[in-house]
Amino acid sequence: MAAKIISGTEVAAEIRGELKQKVAELKEKGITPGLGVILVGEDPASVSYVTGKAKGCEEIGIFEETFRLPAEATEEEVLAMVDRLNKDPRFHGILVQLPLPKHIDEKKVLVAISPEKDVDCFHPVNVGKLLIGEADFLPCTPHGVQQLLVRSGNSPEGKHVVICGRSNIVGKPLMAMLVQKAKGANATITVCHTGTRDLASVTRQADILVAAAGSPQMIKADMVKEGAVVIDVGVNRIPDETKKSGFRLVGDVDFEAVAEKASAITPVPGGVGPMTVTMLLVNTVRAAERQAAART
Ligand code: NAP
Repeated sequence: MAAKIISGTEVAAEIRGELKQKVAELKEKGITPGLGVILVGEDPASVSYVTGKAKGCEEIGIFEETFRLPAEATEEEVLAMVDRLNKDPRFHGILVQLPLPKHIDEKKVLVAISPEKDVDCFHPVNVGKLLIGEADFLPCTPHGVQQLLVRSGNSPEGKHVVICGRSNIVGKPLMAMLVQKAKGANATITVCHTGTRDLASVTRQADILVAAAGSPQMIKADMVKEGAVVIDVGVNRIPDETKKSGFRLVGDVDFEAVAEKASAITPVPGGVGPMTVTMLLVNTVRAAERQAAART
């Protein structure tokens, strides 16, 4: 294998170490960053994500409380919970675990979160601020991708970054971040999707290729330029009879083959995944700092 592995686990640990120090300093000033998590229903994946976020908070000293509502909770009940946390000064950040049950309008709930507490950066006010280069918070997964690049010595500045996927959670906000005239950004961006003609001819132009399509191992070696940096955001389950669970996790990149060609690559798991939760912690601490500064 030629490529250097960019370990999200290691970069995340480095950032969490820095954050722990920052939280300790804030606590000395009487500020304990707090995150309120709203979980509706018992979806196992959602429960596991929420548990991971709570553990992350505990590890660095953030106060966290998860508010559980039953799957049959009404939209009004969820909105009332958001309102309660908006008003509670113990919580600097609010996170509503998605997806919500189908009878609840997700957009309505996300817009109800106060933009100052919107640590997921999904509120249209924060999305707009990101686009005009005035973000208070950076969206977690895209910010994680940027940090992986910068901290591994592969800054996107001046590079051609090709992003496969245009979702509102990954592709589009990553585009908005990396196109800014700013440190750790200032890249030339191409965004691909299912309407892209001859995808391989586009991905082969990438100095940095970010795969965020949710399609298992779709990026093959012949779609990657020799020496490119490859960031795999995808998390897909594929059947694997050798595993007790009957499946294993793979990314959107054909890892073994692409690693022969790339100069650096992130693994799945252990790549972007650990970064996403870490950047949520970063945003919670930032929210606490901003809210404390606004009060003085
Ligand atoms: P999504 O909402 O399903 O969006 C997928 C995007 O990829 C869409 O824009 C789609 O194009 C495009 N696409 C799908 N197949 C394609 C193909 N064959 N060729 C070109 N474009 C294609 O997914 P998402 O929420 O962005 O998530 C993407 C992946 O990242 C998933 O595997 C998800 O589990 C993972 N993820 C991981 C993390 C993490 O922390 N590691 C966080 C978020 C997401 P159209 O717009 O034309 O449909």
